[in-house]
Amino acid sequence: MPKKVNKKSIPAKKKAVKATKYVYAFGAKTDGDTTMKTLLGGKGANLAEMARIGLPVPPGFTITTGVCTYYYDNKRKYPKTLVAEVKASVARVEKEVGKKFGDLKNPLLFSVRSGARESMPGMMDTILNLGLNDKTVKALADKSGNEAFAYDCYRRFIQMYGDVVMGVQPKDDTEAEPFEHVLETLKKEVDVELDSDLTANNLRELIKRYQVLIKKYTGDAFPQDPYKQLWGAVSAVFGSWQNERATIYRQKYGIPAAWGTAVNVQAMVFGNMGEDSATGVAFTRDPANGEKVFYGEYLINAQGEDVVAGVRTPKPIAQLADEMPKGHKELEVIRKKLERHFRDMQDFEFTIENKQLYMLQTRNGKRTGLAAVRIAVEMTKERLMTEKTAVTKIPAESIDSLLVPVFNPAAVKAAKTIGTGLPAGPGAASGHIAFSAAAAERSVKDGKKVVLCRQETSPEDLKGMIASEGILTSRGGVSSHAALVARQMGKVCICGASEIKINYAKKTLTAGKTVLREGDFISIDGTAGTIFSGQIETSDSEVQQVLAGKLKASKSYTYQLFNTVMGWADKYRKLGVRTNADSPALAQAAITYGAEGIGLCRTEHMFFEGDRIDYMRQMILAGEEKDRRAALKKLLPFQRRDFKGLFKSMAGLPVTIRLLDPPLHEFVPHDDAARRELAEKLNLKPDYIAERIRALHEENPMLGHRGCRLGISYPEITEMQSRAIFEAAAALLTQKKPIDVQPEVMIPLVGFKQELANQIAIVRRVADEVMKAKGVKIRYTVGTMIEIPRAAITADEIAEIADFFSFGTNDLTQTTLGLSRDDMGSFFDKYKEEDIFAQNPFASLDQSGVGKVVEIAVEKGRSVKKNLKLGICGEHGGDPSSINFFHQVGLNYVSCSPPRVPVARLAAAQAALTN
Ligand code: PEP
Ligand code: MG
Repeated sequence: MPKKVNKKSIPAKKKAVKATKYVYAFGAKTDGDTTMKTLLGGKGANLAEMARIGLPVPPGFTITTGVCTYYYDNKRKYPKTLVAEVKASVARVEKEVGKKFGDLKNPLLFSVRSGARESMPGMMDTILNLGLNDKTVKALADKSGNEAFAYDCYRRFIQMYGDVVMGVQPKDDTEAEPFEHVLETLKKEVDVELDSDLTANNLRELIKRYQVLIKKYTGDAFPQDPYKQLWGAVSAVFGSWQNERATIYRQKYGIPAAWGTAVNVQAMVFGNMGEDSATGVAFTRDPANGEKVFYGEYLINAQGEDVVAGVRTPKPIAQLADEMPKGHKELEVIRKKLERHFRDMQDFEFTIENKQLYMLQTRNGKRTGLAAVRIAVEMTKERLMTEKTAVTKIPAESIDSLLVPVFNPAAVKAAKTIGTGLPAGPGAASGHIAFSAAAAERSVKDGKKVVLCRQETSPEDLKGMIASEGILTSRGGVSSHAALVARQMGKVCICGASEIKINYAKKTLTAGKTVLREGDFISIDGTAGTIFSGQIETSDSEVQQVLAGKLKASKSYTYQLFNTVMGWADKYRKLGVRTNADSPALAQAAITYGAEGIGLCRTEHMFFEGDRIDYMRQMILAGEEKDRRAALKKLLPFQRRDFKGLFKSMAGLPVTIRLLDPPLHEFVPHDDAARRELAEKLNLKPDYIAERIRALHEENPMLGHRGCRLGISYPEITEMQSRAIFEAAAALLTQKKPIDVQPEVMIPLVGFKQELANQIAIVRRVADEVMKAKGVKIRYTVGTMIEIPRAAITADEIAEIADFFSFGTNDLTQTTLGLSRDDMGSFFDKYKEEDIFAQNPFASLDQSGVGKVVEIAVEKGRSVKKNLKLGICGEHGGDPSSINFFHQVGLNYVSCSPPRVPVARLAAAQAALTN
C-alpha cells in the first residue's frame, strides 16, 4: 500500500527557483572576473578583472552572452527579468559616479560595446555618448564649460546611433555615406577643413541636419528617451553578432555562432574634453615583432574610435612622455602591472580625461607569428611564463611566419623604394595593385597575386584582405582594427604610409613622382615597412639560411628563437614527426626541419622526371605481360637509384615507400599532338595508343583501378618496385662505408586482408631473393595504408599480417564522406556559409566522422597487435587541430610535407601538454 503522504512535509515546491543572473557589475562593486569569458565575453571579464586589481576602470555592467543566445532563440526578445536588472545596474553606476542617466543637470552617459568570448576586432557595433538628447546636451555643455565638446559628442552619438541602430547607411557602393555627406557639405559651406574646426553653432546646425536625415531615411525621429536609446543600442549590438562581416570572421576563425556576444555598458569618460585629454591604444610589447618596448599610439582631444578608425594618424606613445608626462608615467606602471597579472602581452585602451587616466579594456594582444614566438621566449626568460605555458601559448601556425621568404637582398638593391610606412605584418609580398577588396578578389580569381592598397582598411575589406598577399594603407596606425585583423591572418602589412597618396576615383597610387595604377606591380616589406614599385624576387628566410648553412646561427636572432621553441617542442611531444617526401632534396629539407623519417614516399611522383615517364608509358600501354616486363626492366635502375638517394639522405631513419597508387591513365598523354609524338618515340601506331587509352579510361578513376588493385592485376609492378627498394638497401648496406637503412614497404588502398596478403607475398619473396643474392640481411617491414572504411572496420583482420598502419586520411575522408577530393569546389563555399562544414574536411580532420573511423581502426588493430605501429600520412598530418586528435587516439607519428614539420612538432607538444 502506498505510504500516505503528508502534503505539508513536501519540500517547499513553492520556493522560488533562483532567477538566472543576466547582468554583472564592474566598478566599486564587481561581480565577475577574468575566468568568466564564456559568460561575460573577453572584454567584460577583463574589465571586471582590472577593476578587481585596482586599476582605474569607469564603472559599468555586462549583459551576458546568455542573453544573446536567449535573444536569438526567442525571436529577438529578452528574458523578462532583464529590464529590472539593467535598471538596478544603471542606478548603481549613477550612485558611483554621482551623475544621473538622462539628468538635465549632470547627465550620465554610457558607451555600449560588444564583447565576444574571443575578440573579433571591429566586426560588431559600438555606440558612444549614449544618453545625450536635445536637452542633456545643454547640461553637458554647462557642466564641462565646453559647448563645442558637448555638441560634438552629441553629433557623433547621432551619427553612430543613426548608422548602427537605425540603419541610415548607403544604399549601394556608389552612394556616399549619408552622415559623412551631410558633414562634408556643411564643412564646405562654413569653409573649414577639419571636423575639429567646427564651432558649437556649426555643430548645432549639423545636429539638426542629422536629425532631418534620420527622419527622411527611416520615417522615425531620433529617439530622445535615454532608456529607449539604451535598448536600441543593446539590441543593435546583439544584432551585429549575425551581421555579414562578423559571420565571415567567425567562419574564418572557427568561432561557433552559438557562443554569442555579451554587451558592455560603461560610464563614458572623455578623451575629447580638450587639450589635457587624450585617448589611445597600447600594447605592452610590440605586436609586430614582439620586442619588449611600450608600443602604441594616441590622439590628443579625441574619442577612442578616432584612433582605431584610422581617420587621423595617431602619434606614437613615446611622444606622450613629452605631451602628458604624468599620464605616460602612470601608463608605464600599468603596463608592467598588466603583464605581471595577466602573464601575457596585453593590448589595452585608455582615455585621459582632464589629466585623469582611465582603463577601458585589456586583452591578450593579437600578434604576428614572429611576435608570438619572441614574446613567449622572452617572457619565459623573464619568468613571467613557464616553458610549458610558452609552448601552449604560441599558435602552432606561428612558426610558419619565421620560415616565410624575405625579399632577395640583391633584388631589393636594384628595386625602387617609393615610400615607407609602419611595419605591421612581417614578411615580403609582391603583387598586382588592387584598390578595393572587390578588385582584389576578382584578380585573385584570375590567378593573380595581389597587394590590397587602401587609404585605410575597414572591416568591410575582410574578404579582399583574405584574398591578398599583402596589405598597404596610406593612413591609420598599427592598431587600426583592420590592421589587427591583417596581423592575425599572418598577412604582410604596412600601415600609415603617409607619403603615399591613393586616389580611388582615378585608381592611382602616387608616391613623389611615381604613379602606379591598378594592376601594376608593387612590393612591400612588412618587416621593415618599405614599399617598392615593381615586382621583387624573394629569397629564403633567415631560419632557412641558417639551416642550409648559409648564415651563422649566432647572427640570426630569429633562428635562435626558432631553435629555442623547437627544442621545447621536442622535449614535450609524444608523437613522432615524419615527412612526406619523394626526392632526396625534399627529404634533406625535411631533416633540417627536424623530420624523423619519411612517412610517405609516393613512388608515382618519381616517374615524372626525364626519360622514365616514357618507360612508364611504355609499360602502361603494353598489351601483354612480356612487353610490360620489358618496360619495367628499364624503369628498375631509375627506381633503384631514387631509393638509394632517399635512403642515403635519411641515413638510417625509417623510410616508408608506398607502392604505385594512381590510376594508370594519368600517365598517358591526352591531346593528339602529344600522342603522335609518343607513338613515334615508342615506335607504336597512333591508333593503337588511342585504343589503349580508351581501354584505360574510367568513369570514376578515384574509385577505380588504382592502389593495390594495380599491383594485384599486374604483379610485375609490385615485383619491380620491391626489387628496386631492396637492391637499393642492399647496395647501401654492403658498400665500403655502409649506411643503415630502414625500409617500410606500404601497400595502398587495401580494403580486404586478402589484398594485402597477395601483395605481401610478392614483397617478401623479392626481399628474400635479393637478400640471398646480395648476402645481406635487410631490416624491413611491410604494412598498409588505412584509407578505405572497410579497412578500418576490419582492421583486426588486417593487423594480423600488417607490420604497421598508416592512415591515408585524404582518401579516408573522401571515402567516408562519399565526397570527391577533386570535385568539392563547386559547393564548398555554400557548405561553409551554411555552417555545414566548420572547416574544410580535407584540410582539418572531420573528427566526429572520419575521426571515429580512425579510432575504430586503432582499437581493432591494437586488439590484435598491442604494439602495432600507427601513423598518418594524409594532409591532416600537418594540421594542428588534427594533430591534437591523432595524439589523443594514440598514434605513434604524423607525417606531413617538409615545410609543415616545425608546425607539426610544436602542435604535437601542445597536444601532449594540454591533454
Ligand atoms: C591519403 O589518401 O591520405 C594519402 C596519403 O594518399 P594519396 O593522397 O596519395 O592518395
Ligand atoms: Mg590515398
